[in-house]
Amino acid sequence: MTTATPIPIKIYPRLTSGRFNTVRVLLVALTQLVFFGLPWLMWNHRQAVWLDLANHRFFVFGATFWPQDLVYLSALLMVCAFGLFLWTTLAGRLWCGYACPQTVYTQIMLWIERLVEGDRKARMKRDAGPATFERTARRTLKHTLMIAFSLWTGFTLTGYFTPIRELLHALPTFDFGPWEGFWILFYAAFTWILAGMLREKVCTHMCPYARFQGVMFDNDTLIVSYDSRRGEPRGARRKDDGATARGDCIDCGICVQVCPTGIDIRQGLQYECIGCAACIDACDQVMDKISAPRGLIRYTTESALQGHYPESEIKRRMMRPRVLVYSGILLTIFAGSIAGWAMHTNIKMDVMRDRSYLTRQTDDGLLENSYILRLTNTSETPRVYSLSAEGLPGLKLVGDQTTVKLGPTATETIAVRLQASPDEVPKGSHTVWVLVRAAGDAAPVLREKTRFFGD
Ligand code: SF4
Ligand code: SF4
Repeated sequence: MTTATPIPIKIYPRLTSGRFNTVRVLLVALTQLVFFGLPWLMWNHRQAVWLDLANHRFFVFGATFWPQDLVYLSALLMVCAFGLFLWTTLAGRLWCGYACPQTVYTQIMLWIERLVEGDRKARMKRDAGPATFERTARRTLKHTLMIAFSLWTGFTLTGYFTPIRELLHALPTFDFGPWEGFWILFYAAFTWILAGMLREKVCTHMCPYARFQGVMFDNDTLIVSYDSRRGEPRGARRKDDGATARGDCIDCGICVQVCPTGIDIRQGLQYECIGCAACIDACDQVMDKISAPRGLIRYTTESALQGHYPESEIKRRMMRPRVLVYSGILLTIFAGSIAGWAMHTNIKMDVMRDRSYLTRQTDDGLLENSYILRLTNTSETPRVYSLSAEGLPGLKLVGDQTTVKLGPTATETIAVRLQASPDEVPKGSHTVWVLVRAAGDAAPVLREKTRFFGD
């Protein structure tokens, strides 16, 4: 990567259009449709996606995740991390340019800015001129709309944690709980400051990914590049130029004007480049106008650009050791998570031994240990389970409840005792299991290990 281009204090990105811009607009629309729409979907008479922190459970459509399912959250985080590594190795900062929330929200804030303050030229002219009532009024309106949008994002994000319909009922009177009120305001301020005010500065100065993504690049990574062999020597075309006197770059500067981070891609790859391809769209339009082939700025690899292989080879070069390792890790995590989820049971149980005494003798002369069982039905269907024990000859489980009825996603705490004959239990501590069977099933659905103390 080359040294950074000096970045102007305030950037006024010029509006661009083209195929990559269309993809970006569609992605903004899709991600926002999902983000704003998901909390309103219902499933089984409750919010389809509800991260119910208060009761330690996450609902995602038909699946319910409990603290014991933390492994799936870890798997999800690993998939995100390795997915990003894989994506970056293959296609550079495509994530930053198209799907990162900072890019998406900055794009939305820029649309609001253009709507209220006009295009790039009008904004630059107004900002350079004297402070007028019109300028103040437009700025006030712009920030009012940005803050309103930010509040809506804060409200929606909080709606993933507190049912959004409850929040909506509280909205007219602002009768939110203290945490709900805090998070709505906090996330709104976060969105407004980062996307509305700081914008590209977050990508260039605050985002750690911009700093370490370079180590994931190699010469076969797809990056936005300027073809200097074709473009140089640059300069405006004149009628008296010879056919080969100049390269295809007419030095119009439009690729710099459309860049959201204000850099000049013709100076080589820079860490400020978020790979948004706005400069590709802009330059392609310039090439169309001067009847030159498109692609003076394009997605390509360092090796192809240096002529080590033709551009048609790029796809074939994608399969390289690093890509295969990341893909293998991702496939393993996927397969493990799916297999684990397919085998998981709808009942969870914690067995806690009563530590106030080790063992006691019943009136019948049996050795007895006491336990507290916490049973959770993780499904949304009522279920009935029977309890028993094994691990020592003649071991039996007794208590007021050896058959438990559990409502949907209900948790029940019950006291049970394990009893065994002193003739069958040697002194000391022994491993035993508490078994849970679904009504009518012979095989247990769950076996939890605990200790039984002999005399
Ligand atoms: S848009 Fe294309 S032609 Fe214009 S300055 Fe940039 S690279 Fe050169
Ligand atoms: S140089 Fe091109 S791809 Fe990189 S951030 Fe600027 S406009 Fe986007």
